[in-house]
Amino acid sequence: MMPGNALKIFASEEQETLSKLTNRVLRGMLRNEQHASIVSCLCDQPICKDCPVEAEMMERKDDLAGATVET
Ligand SMILES: [Zn+2]
Repeated sequence: MMPGNALKIFASEEQETLSKLTNRVLRGMLRNEQHASIVSCLCDQPICKDCPVEAEMMERKDDLAGATVET
């Protein structure tokens, strides 16, 4: 995730911390796949290389797949 101009007030390690925290908040807010597709419409596609929304939905799918294998 590339910081925008507004984040230049932060030192690089502060930007890193802010990025980690906001990614976690964003991922925690996602309700389901439909909601995730709405949220990811807000992504700045050219710079959102490691999309936290996509990553979260992939992890949830893996968790679901793992759960069905175990039962
Ligand atoms: Zn994204």
